[in-house]
Amino acid sequence: MNEDNSRELYDRALSVLPGGVNSAVRAVIEPYPFFVQKGDGGHVIDADGNRYIDWVMGLGPLLLGHDLPEPVQAGIQQKASEGPMYGTPTEIEVDLAEFVVRHVPSVEKIRFVNSGTEATTSAVRLARGYTGRNKIVVNQGGYHGAQESTLVEGDHENPRPSSAGIPQAFAEHTLPVPFNDEESVREVFEEHGDDIAAVLTEPILGNYGIVQPEDGYHEFLRDITEEHGSLLIFDEVITGFRVGGLGCAQSEFGVTPDLTTFGKIIGGGFPVGAIGGRAEIIENFTPSGDVFQAGTFSGHPVTMAAGLETLQFAAENDVYDHVNDIGDRLREGLEEIVADQAPEYTVAGTDSMFKVIFTRDGEAPKNAADVKNAETDRWRRIFWGQMKEQGVFLSQNQFECQFVSYGHTEEDVERTLEAYKEAL
Ligand code: PMP
Repeated sequence: MNEDNSRELYDRALSVLPGGVNSAVRAVIEPYPFFVQKGDGGHVIDADGNRYIDWVMGLGPLLLGHDLPEPVQAGIQQKASEGPMYGTPTEIEVDLAEFVVRHVPSVEKIRFVNSGTEATTSAVRLARGYTGRNKIVVNQGGYHGAQESTLVEGDHENPRPSSAGIPQAFAEHTLPVPFNDEESVREVFEEHGDDIAAVLTEPILGNYGIVQPEDGYHEFLRDITEEHGSLLIFDEVITGFRVGGLGCAQSEFGVTPDLTTFGKIIGGGFPVGAIGGRAEIIENFTPSGDVFQAGTFSGHPVTMAAGLETLQFAAENDVYDHVNDIGDRLREGLEEIVADQAPEYTVAGTDSMFKVIFTRDGEAPKNAADVKNAETDRWRRIFWGQMKEQGVFLSQNQFECQFVSYGHTEEDVERTLEAYKEAL
């Protein structure tokens, strides 16, 4: 496979961009990332003309794939051609807000921002402002973006920053507990109940393998937060408008959080985030309340058009049937291959999310510690050595999940399963 142009571009990038990239995970591909020239349906074509079946899909936002349907393209182009943005409100922000309020059970009001990170940062500030409390409970292996309050590792007795540049004093207000572990949540509430502003959790861990909640886990979180006057925040940046269709994962699990954070699909491939929830809580954002929140680009008309047209297209067409069906076929095919060739590994996922996890015991992981045991080196060898060589683009490391889009076809599934068979 010729990769001269990507190598040359990476050399240039290393001189002017830290690590040669603008987001850390992109540099994980070895020996260097391929540079994309353009997308095509469920595929991407790199700077050297190599074509890959793309199961990364921008790390989640591209529900419809790379070829946007005509109304989505038209909506984006019209907004861009009218002058990109204004610093004053536009109708399309109200349209998208109304759409989300109509479909997502927990959302009565919503504030749009520009990334998932901004959404979770504002949600944490809102929870603290609303409750007058300091601490937040998060899950080990959960990811809520590049923000000070959640880049924390360790456990609730010994939380520490997981990045340089974050004061220990910040980490002390964040209490990490294992996913699916009711006992440790009870413990933190016993110890800190009066000072816990919120439990912040992904409904399904999507950045660490793919870990499903056990039956009753989210109901338990709902009950214990209510009992202690804390908020329950679902971070649906990945699962929003993907798992459970337009109702999001919360409708699938039948648990209504106080606040929900969104990103990715809600912006149709453009930079976006959002915080939705009960009106009485969301009203605490400035200017109606006193929790400061603002952004030059927030509610950007081009993003709002891309998001609204994408979701409307999904509402009016067989998008979720298609992506979930392809997801089922991939997972079923992979399960057969794994059972036959590598029975100690696990196929994880639901709806249009999937991943093969190199756990050693053939059990679905229950929390981050289980995923951490996975054989990362082997994953790297097989996937960067072999899947990419066979023209299949998978998420850059052992932990991030992979996504099906409306642009993927039966043939993509067949070719991908063949490649896995070969690689495993
Ligand atoms: N929350 C979750 C659950 C995420 O998966 C991500 C990003 N993958 C974020 C927050 C941060 O979003 P962004 O990268 O848009 O800042």
